[in-house]
Amino acid sequence: MIIEPKIRGFICTTAHPTGCATNVQRQIDHVVVKGEIPTGPRRVLVLGCSTGYGLASRIVTTFGSNADTVGVSFEKPPAENKTASAGWYNNRAFEQRAKAAGRVAVTVEGDAFSDAIKAEAIAAIRENLGQVDMIVYSLASPVRTDPKTGETYRSAIKPFGAPVEAKTLNTATGEVSQVVIEPATEEEAAATVKVMGGEDWQLWIAALSEAGVLADGFTTLNYTYLGSELTWPIYHKGTLGVAKADLDRAAGEIRGQFGDSSAYVVALKAVVTQASSAIPVVPLYGTLLLKVMAEMGLGEGTIEQIDRLFRAKLADPVVDEAHRIRVDDWELSDTVQAEMIRRWPLLSTETLPDLADLKTYRAEFLKLFGFGLGGVDYSLDVDPREV
Ligand code: NAD
Repeated sequence: MIIEPKIRGFICTTAHPTGCATNVQRQIDHVVVKGEIPTGPRRVLVLGCSTGYGLASRIVTTFGSNADTVGVSFEKPPAENKTASAGWYNNRAFEQRAKAAGRVAVTVEGDAFSDAIKAEAIAAIRENLGQVDMIVYSLASPVRTDPKTGETYRSAIKPFGAPVEAKTLNTATGEVSQVVIEPATEEEAAATVKVMGGEDWQLWIAALSEAGVLADGFTTLNYTYLGSELTWPIYHKGTLGVAKADLDRAAGEIRGQFGDSSAYVVALKAVVTQASSAIPVVPLYGTLLLKVMAEMGLGEGTIEQIDRLFRAKLADPVVDEAHRIRVDDWELSDTVQAEMIRRWPLLSTETLPDLADLKTYRAEFLKLFGFGLGGVDYSLDVDPREV
Protein backbone atom coordinates (compact mmCIF):
# COMPACT_ATOMS: atom_id res chain seq x y z
CA MET A 1 0.00 0.00 0.00
CA ILE A 2 0.98 3.65 -0.43
CA ILE A 3 1.19 5.05 3.10
CA GLU A 4 0.22 8.65 3.70
CA PRO A 5 -0.27 10.63 6.89
CA LYS A 6 -3.82 10.58 8.28
CA ILE A 7 -4.08 13.23 10.95
CA ARG A 8 -6.94 13.12 13.47
CA GLY A 9 -6.77 15.99 15.94
CA PHE A 10 -3.36 15.82 17.57
CA ILE A 11 -2.40 12.33 16.41
CA CYS A 12 -1.50 10.72 13.14
CA THR A 13 -3.16 7.31 12.75
CA THR A 14 -0.70 5.99 10.14
CA ALA A 15 3.07 5.57 10.23
CA HIS A 16 5.62 4.90 7.52
CA PRO A 17 8.03 1.98 8.19
CA THR A 18 10.88 3.28 6.00
CA GLY A 19 10.37 6.82 7.26
CA CYS A 20 10.43 5.70 10.92
CA ALA A 21 13.61 3.70 10.27
CA THR A 22 15.19 6.77 8.64
CA ASN A 23 14.18 8.87 11.64
CA VAL A 24 15.84 6.35 14.00
CA GLN A 25 18.98 6.29 11.82
CA ARG A 26 19.12 10.09 11.81
CA GLN A 27 19.20 10.06 15.61
CA ILE A 28 21.83 7.31 15.72
CA ASP A 29 23.99 9.35 13.31
CA HIS A 30 23.74 12.37 15.59
CA VAL A 31 25.20 10.38 18.48
CA VAL A 32 27.82 8.45 16.50
CA VAL A 33 29.20 11.61 14.89
CA LYS A 34 29.69 13.16 18.32
CA GLY A 35 31.77 10.19 19.47
CA GLU A 36 31.84 7.91 22.47
CA ILE A 37 30.51 8.81 25.92
CA PRO A 38 33.03 6.92 28.07
CA THR A 39 31.21 7.53 31.36
CA GLY A 40 27.82 6.36 30.09
CA PRO A 41 25.94 3.34 31.48
CA ARG A 42 26.46 -0.14 29.97
CA ARG A 43 23.29 -2.04 30.93
CA VAL A 44 20.13 -0.01 30.64
CA LEU A 45 16.39 -0.49 31.08
CA VAL A 46 14.31 2.11 29.20
CA LEU A 47 10.63 2.35 30.11
CA GLY A 48 8.82 4.10 27.26
CA CYS A 49 11.59 3.21 24.77
CA SER A 50 9.76 3.53 21.46
CA THR A 51 9.34 7.27 20.83
CA GLY A 52 10.29 10.72 22.09
CA TYR A 53 12.72 11.09 24.98
CA GLY A 54 12.74 7.35 25.80
CA LEU A 55 13.80 6.33 22.29
CA ALA A 56 16.48 9.04 22.33
CA SER A 57 17.74 7.68 25.68
CA ARG A 58 17.99 4.16 24.28
CA ILE A 59 19.82 5.45 21.19
CA VAL A 60 22.26 7.64 23.15
CA THR A 61 23.20 4.87 25.61
CA THR A 62 23.48 2.18 22.92
CA PHE A 63 25.44 4.19 20.36
CA GLY A 64 27.19 6.57 22.76
CA SER A 65 28.31 4.26 25.55
CA ASN A 66 27.89 0.80 23.97
CA ALA A 67 25.05 -0.13 26.28
CA ASP A 68 22.99 -3.29 26.05
CA THR A 69 19.35 -2.48 26.61
CA VAL A 70 15.97 -3.86 27.51
CA GLY A 71 13.16 -1.54 26.45
CA VAL A 72 9.48 -1.54 27.35
CA SER A 73 6.75 0.17 25.35
CA PHE A 74 3.08 -0.07 24.43
CA GLU A 75 2.71 -0.02 20.66
CA LYS A 76 0.44 -1.40 17.98
CA PRO A 77 1.76 -4.04 15.54
CA PRO A 78 0.85 -3.83 11.85
CA ALA A 79 -1.87 -5.80 10.06
CA GLU A 80 -2.32 -6.63 6.39
CA ASN A 81 -3.75 -3.28 5.39
CA LYS A 82 -3.01 -1.28 8.49
CA THR A 83 0.21 0.32 9.55
CA ALA A 84 1.74 -0.26 12.95
CA SER A 85 2.12 2.66 15.34
CA ALA A 86 5.28 4.68 14.77
CA GLY A 87 6.83 3.37 18.00
CA TRP A 88 6.47 -0.23 16.80
CA TYR A 89 8.45 0.59 13.63
CA ASN A 90 10.97 2.59 15.67
CA ASN A 91 11.54 -0.41 17.94
CA ARG A 92 12.21 -2.73 14.99
CA ALA A 93 14.53 -0.22 13.31
CA PHE A 94 16.39 0.36 16.58
CA GLU A 95 16.79 -3.38 17.30
CA GLN A 96 18.16 -4.08 13.81
CA ARG A 97 20.73 -1.30 14.08
CA ALA A 98 21.73 -2.05 17.67
CA LYS A 99 22.25 -5.74 16.85
CA ALA A 100 24.27 -4.84 13.73
CA ALA A 101 26.50 -2.79 16.05
CA GLY A 102 26.99 -5.85 18.27
CA ARG A 103 24.71 -4.71 21.07
CA VAL A 104 21.94 -6.56 22.89
CA ALA A 105 18.53 -4.95 22.31
CA VAL A 106 15.47 -6.71 23.67
CA THR A 107 12.05 -5.06 23.62
CA VAL A 108 9.12 -6.05 25.82
CA GLU A 109 5.81 -4.88 24.35
CA GLY A 110 2.93 -4.32 26.73
CA ASP A 111 1.53 -2.29 29.62
CA ALA A 112 4.46 -1.17 31.78
CA PHE A 113 2.06 -0.39 34.64
CA SER A 114 1.12 -4.08 34.96
CA ASP A 115 2.81 -6.68 37.19
CA ALA A 116 3.00 -9.10 34.24
CA ILE A 117 5.12 -6.76 32.09
CA LYS A 118 7.36 -5.93 35.07
CA ALA A 119 7.96 -9.69 35.49
CA GLU A 120 8.61 -10.09 31.74
CA ALA A 121 11.11 -7.22 31.73
CA ILE A 122 12.90 -8.65 34.78
CA ALA A 123 13.18 -12.03 33.06
CA ALA A 124 14.58 -10.30 29.94
CA ILE A 125 17.15 -8.43 32.08
CA ARG A 126 18.22 -11.64 33.85
CA GLU A 127 18.60 -13.49 30.60
CA ASN A 128 20.27 -10.77 28.55
CA LEU A 129 21.95 -8.23 30.82
CA GLY A 130 22.24 -9.89 34.22
CA GLN A 131 21.62 -6.60 36.01
CA VAL A 132 21.01 -2.96 35.07
CA ASP A 133 23.14 0.10 35.92
CA MET A 134 20.55 2.56 34.72
CA ILE A 135 16.77 2.72 34.53
CA VAL A 136 15.26 5.51 32.43
CA TYR A 137 11.59 6.09 33.18
CA SER A 138 10.07 7.89 30.17
CA LEU A 139 6.46 6.75 30.08
CA ALA A 140 3.84 9.24 28.93
CA SER A 141 0.34 7.81 29.13
CA PRO A 142 -3.16 9.20 29.60
CA VAL A 143 -4.33 6.12 31.51
CA ARG A 144 -3.08 3.67 34.15
CA THR A 145 -4.63 0.63 35.75
CA ASP A 146 -3.40 0.15 39.31
CA PRO A 147 -2.13 -3.43 39.41
CA LYS A 148 -3.05 -3.84 43.09
CA THR A 149 -6.69 -2.73 42.90
CA GLY A 150 -7.50 -3.14 39.20
CA GLU A 151 -8.89 0.40 39.20
CA THR A 152 -8.27 2.45 36.04
CA TYR A 153 -7.28 6.13 36.32
CA ARG A 154 -7.33 8.76 33.55
CA SER A 155 -5.21 11.86 33.68
CA ALA A 156 -6.72 15.29 33.06
CA ILE A 157 -4.62 18.20 31.84
CA LYS A 158 -6.36 21.07 33.59
CA PRO A 159 -5.66 24.07 35.81
CA PHE A 160 -6.50 24.29 39.50
CA GLY A 161 -9.01 26.40 41.37
CA ALA A 162 -10.34 28.82 38.76
CA PRO A 163 -10.80 28.51 34.98
CA VAL A 164 -7.78 29.63 32.98
CA GLU A 165 -8.13 31.70 29.84
CA ALA A 166 -5.23 31.09 27.52
CA LYS A 167 -4.06 31.44 23.97
CA THR A 168 -3.87 28.24 21.98
CA LEU A 169 -3.09 27.12 18.45
CA ASN A 170 -4.92 24.82 16.11
CA THR A 171 -1.87 23.28 14.45
CA ALA A 172 -3.98 22.01 11.53
CA THR A 173 -5.39 25.40 10.52
CA GLY A 174 -2.83 27.79 12.01
CA GLU A 175 -5.58 29.58 13.90
CA VAL A 176 -4.65 31.22 17.21
CA SER A 177 -7.57 31.63 19.59
CA GLN A 178 -8.44 32.20 23.23
CA VAL A 179 -9.74 29.17 25.11
CA VAL A 180 -11.15 28.86 28.58
CA ILE A 181 -10.02 25.71 30.35
CA GLU A 182 -12.15 24.68 33.29
CA PRO A 183 -10.36 23.69 36.50
CA ALA A 184 -9.89 20.09 37.57
CA THR A 185 -11.96 18.44 40.23
CA GLU A 186 -10.12 16.92 43.23
CA GLU A 187 -10.78 13.51 41.74
CA GLU A 188 -9.26 14.42 38.37
CA ALA A 189 -6.20 15.88 40.06
CA ALA A 190 -5.70 12.75 42.16
CA ALA A 191 -6.15 10.53 39.09
CA THR A 192 -3.50 12.51 37.20
CA VAL A 193 -1.02 11.91 40.04
CA LYS A 194 -1.87 8.19 39.89
CA VAL A 195 -1.10 8.10 36.16
CA MET A 196 1.85 10.49 35.79
CA GLY A 197 3.21 10.69 39.37
CA GLY A 198 5.98 8.65 40.95
CA GLU A 199 4.08 5.61 42.23
CA ASP A 200 4.74 3.35 39.24
CA TRP A 201 8.40 4.46 39.08
CA GLN A 202 8.81 3.31 42.68
CA LEU A 203 7.00 0.05 41.94
CA TRP A 204 9.50 -0.63 39.15
CA ILE A 205 12.50 0.08 41.37
CA ALA A 206 11.06 -2.10 44.15
CA ALA A 207 10.36 -4.98 41.73
CA LEU A 208 13.84 -4.75 40.17
CA SER A 209 15.47 -4.58 43.61
CA GLU A 210 13.51 -7.55 44.91
CA ALA A 211 14.49 -9.57 41.84
CA GLY A 212 18.18 -8.76 42.46
CA VAL A 213 18.66 -7.18 39.03
CA LEU A 214 19.71 -3.69 40.20
CA ALA A 215 23.48 -3.31 40.04
CA ASP A 216 25.27 -1.71 42.98
CA GLY A 217 25.50 2.03 42.38
CA PHE A 218 22.64 2.04 39.84
CA THR A 219 21.01 5.29 38.76
CA THR A 220 17.43 5.90 37.72
CA LEU A 221 16.18 8.94 35.80
CA ASN A 222 12.65 10.26 35.38
CA TYR A 223 11.85 13.09 32.97
CA THR A 224 9.89 16.18 33.87
CA TYR A 225 8.86 19.49 32.33
CA LEU A 226 8.82 22.69 34.36
CA GLY A 227 8.51 25.27 31.61
CA SER A 228 8.11 29.03 31.74
CA GLU A 229 5.48 31.31 33.23
CA LEU A 230 3.73 31.28 29.84
CA THR A 231 2.63 27.66 30.32
CA TRP A 232 2.50 27.52 34.13
CA PRO A 233 -1.27 28.08 34.46
CA ILE A 234 -2.02 24.99 32.39
CA TYR A 235 1.07 22.88 33.09
CA HIS A 236 3.38 23.46 36.04
CA LYS A 237 0.65 24.87 38.31
CA GLY A 238 -2.03 22.53 36.94
CA THR A 239 -2.77 18.85 37.40
CA LEU A 240 0.26 17.69 35.38
CA GLY A 241 2.56 19.89 37.46
CA VAL A 242 1.21 18.30 40.65
CA ALA A 243 1.79 14.84 39.17
CA LYS A 244 5.31 15.87 38.19
CA ALA A 245 5.98 17.26 41.67
CA ASP A 246 5.16 13.78 42.94
CA LEU A 247 8.24 12.58 41.00
CA ASP A 248 10.40 14.73 43.30
CA ARG A 249 8.83 12.97 46.29
CA ALA A 250 9.44 9.55 44.75
CA ALA A 251 13.03 10.43 43.81
CA GLY A 252 13.68 11.50 47.41
CA GLU A 253 12.34 8.18 48.71
CA ILE A 254 14.44 6.16 46.25
CA ARG A 255 17.54 8.17 47.29
CA GLY A 256 16.65 7.54 50.93
CA GLN A 257 16.80 3.81 50.28
CA PHE A 258 19.59 3.50 47.71
CA GLY A 259 21.80 6.55 48.19
CA ASP A 260 22.21 10.12 47.01
CA SER A 261 23.06 9.46 43.41
CA SER A 262 20.52 6.70 42.81
CA ALA A 263 17.61 8.79 41.53
CA TYR A 264 17.27 12.03 39.61
CA VAL A 265 14.35 13.86 38.12
CA VAL A 266 15.65 15.47 34.94
CA ALA A 267 13.96 18.66 33.69
CA LEU A 268 13.95 18.67 29.89
CA LYS A 269 13.08 21.18 27.20
CA ALA A 270 9.73 21.33 25.40
CA VAL A 271 10.05 19.37 22.16
CA VAL A 272 7.56 18.05 19.62
CA THR A 273 6.47 14.54 20.64
CA GLN A 274 3.21 12.63 20.56
CA ALA A 275 2.69 13.36 24.25
CA SER A 276 3.43 17.10 24.10
CA SER A 277 1.19 17.79 21.10
CA ALA A 278 -1.83 16.68 23.15
CA ILE A 279 -1.40 19.40 25.78
CA PRO A 280 -3.38 22.64 25.28
CA VAL A 281 -1.28 25.84 24.90
CA VAL A 282 1.97 23.81 24.60
CA PRO A 283 1.94 23.57 20.75
CA LEU A 284 1.62 27.39 20.50
CA TYR A 285 4.46 27.82 22.98
CA GLY A 286 6.39 25.17 21.01
CA THR A 287 6.05 26.93 17.64
CA LEU A 288 7.32 30.14 19.23
CA LEU A 289 10.15 28.39 21.07
CA LEU A 290 11.32 26.71 17.84
CA LYS A 291 11.69 30.08 16.15
CA VAL A 292 13.23 31.98 19.08
CA MET A 293 15.80 29.30 19.97
CA ALA A 294 16.74 28.73 16.31
CA GLU A 295 17.28 32.48 15.84
CA MET A 296 19.60 32.44 18.85
CA GLY A 297 21.49 29.38 17.59
CA LEU A 298 20.20 27.33 20.52
CA GLY A 299 17.81 25.00 18.69
CA GLU A 300 17.65 21.47 20.14
CA GLY A 301 15.35 18.53 19.43
CA THR A 302 14.80 15.33 21.35
CA ILE A 303 18.08 13.60 20.45
CA GLU A 304 20.15 16.75 21.04
CA GLN A 305 18.66 17.16 24.54
CA ILE A 306 19.29 13.57 25.59
CA ASP A 307 22.75 13.53 24.04
CA ARG A 308 23.62 16.66 26.07
CA LEU A 309 22.18 15.02 29.20
CA PHE A 310 24.38 11.92 28.93
CA ARG A 311 27.43 13.64 27.46
CA ALA A 312 27.62 16.78 29.58
CA LYS A 313 25.39 16.48 32.63
CA LEU A 314 25.40 12.95 34.03
CA ALA A 315 29.08 12.22 34.65
CA ASP A 316 29.19 14.74 37.48
CA PRO A 317 25.61 15.88 38.07
CA VAL A 318 24.95 19.41 39.24
CA VAL A 319 21.49 19.58 40.78
CA ASP A 320 19.05 22.39 41.57
CA GLU A 321 17.40 23.07 44.93
CA ALA A 322 14.99 20.17 44.36
CA HIS A 323 17.84 17.78 43.44
CA ARG A 324 16.85 17.86 39.75
CA ILE A 325 19.27 17.81 36.82
CA ARG A 326 18.46 20.68 34.46
CA VAL A 327 18.73 20.30 30.70
CA ASP A 328 16.03 22.94 30.23
CA ASP A 329 18.69 25.55 31.06
CA TRP A 330 18.80 27.02 27.55
CA GLU A 331 15.01 27.13 27.15
CA LEU A 332 14.59 28.83 30.50
CA SER A 333 17.56 31.17 30.16
CA ASP A 334 16.75 34.86 30.69
CA THR A 335 17.57 35.70 27.08
CA VAL A 336 15.26 33.09 25.56
CA GLN A 337 12.43 33.76 28.00
CA ALA A 338 12.63 37.56 27.61
CA GLU A 339 12.06 37.13 23.87
CA MET A 340 9.29 34.54 24.42
CA ILE A 341 7.50 36.87 26.83
CA ARG A 342 7.90 39.84 24.47
CA ARG A 343 6.38 37.96 21.52
CA TRP A 344 3.63 36.04 23.35
CA PRO A 345 1.05 38.87 23.59
CA LEU A 346 1.69 39.75 19.94
CA LEU A 347 0.76 36.25 18.73
CA SER A 348 -2.36 36.00 16.58
CA THR A 349 -3.45 34.05 13.51
CA GLU A 350 -2.09 36.91 11.40
CA THR A 351 1.28 37.37 13.15
CA LEU A 352 2.04 33.67 13.75
CA PRO A 353 3.88 33.12 10.42
CA ASP A 354 6.30 35.94 11.26
CA LEU A 355 6.78 35.47 14.98
CA ALA A 356 6.70 31.67 15.31
CA ASP A 357 7.52 28.62 13.20
CA LEU A 358 4.46 26.48 12.56
CA LYS A 359 6.04 25.07 9.39
CA THR A 360 8.91 23.45 11.30
CA TYR A 361 6.53 22.35 14.08
CA ARG A 362 4.33 20.55 11.52
CA ALA A 363 7.38 19.00 9.83
CA GLU A 364 8.69 17.77 13.20
CA PHE A 365 5.25 16.34 14.04
CA LEU A 366 5.07 14.42 10.74
CA LYS A 367 8.60 13.07 11.24
CA LEU A 368 7.41 11.42 14.48
CA PHE A 369 5.32 9.16 12.24
CA GLY A 370 7.97 8.70 9.56
CA PHE A 371 6.71 11.27 7.06
CA GLY A 372 8.62 14.04 5.30
CA LEU A 373 12.08 12.53 5.76
CA GLY A 374 14.69 13.11 3.10
CA GLY A 375 15.76 10.04 1.11
CA VAL A 376 12.47 8.17 1.53
CA ASP A 377 10.42 7.45 -1.60
CA TYR A 378 6.85 7.84 -0.34
CA SER A 379 5.38 6.87 -3.73
CA LEU A 380 6.58 3.27 -3.31
CA ASP A 381 4.10 0.53 -2.53
CA VAL A 382 5.09 -0.93 0.86
CA ASP A 383 3.83 -3.84 2.93
CA PRO A 384 3.14 -2.34 6.38
CA ARG A 385 4.17 -5.69 7.97
CA GLU A 386 7.59 -5.71 6.37
CA VAL A 387 10.44 -4.08 8.30
P1 NAD B 1 6.12 10.02 23.94
O1 NAD B 1 4.66 10.04 23.74
O2 NAD B 1 6.99 10.28 22.76
O3 NAD B 1 6.59 8.60 24.55
C1 NAD B 1 5.86 7.90 25.49
C2 NAD B 1 6.40 6.48 25.62
O4 NAD B 1 5.64 5.82 26.66
C3 NAD B 1 6.24 5.61 24.36
O5 NAD B 1 7.39 4.78 24.24
C4 NAD B 1 5.02 4.74 24.67
O6 NAD B 1 5.00 3.48 24.01
C5 NAD B 1 5.24 4.55 26.17
N1 NAD B 1 4.03 4.14 26.89
C6 NAD B 1 2.88 4.85 27.08
N2 NAD B 1 2.03 4.13 27.84
C7 NAD B 1 2.64 2.96 28.14
C8 NAD B 1 2.29 1.82 28.89
N3 NAD B 1 1.13 1.71 29.51
N4 NAD B 1 3.20 0.80 28.94
C9 NAD B 1 4.38 0.86 28.31
N5 NAD B 1 4.78 1.94 27.60
C10 NAD B 1 3.92 2.97 27.52
O7 NAD B 1 6.39 11.02 25.14
P2 NAD B 1 7.61 11.99 25.55
O8 NAD B 1 7.20 13.37 25.22
O9 NAD B 1 8.90 11.46 25.08
O10 NAD B 1 7.51 11.88 27.14
C11 NAD B 1 8.37 11.09 27.92
C12 NAD B 1 8.61 11.77 29.25
O11 NAD B 1 9.31 13.00 29.01
C13 NAD B 1 7.33 12.15 29.99
O12 NAD B 1 7.52 11.96 31.37
C14 NAD B 1 7.20 13.63 29.68
O13 NAD B 1 6.46 14.34 30.65
C15 NAD B 1 8.65 14.03 29.70
N6 NAD B 1 8.93 15.34 29.04
C16 NAD B 1 8.46 15.60 27.80
C17 NAD B 1 8.70 16.85 27.24
C18 NAD B 1 8.22 17.19 25.84
O14 NAD B 1 8.21 18.37 25.49
N7 NAD B 1 7.82 16.23 25.05
C19 NAD B 1 9.42 17.82 27.95
C20 NAD B 1 9.93 17.50 29.21
C21 NAD B 1 9.66 16.25 29.75
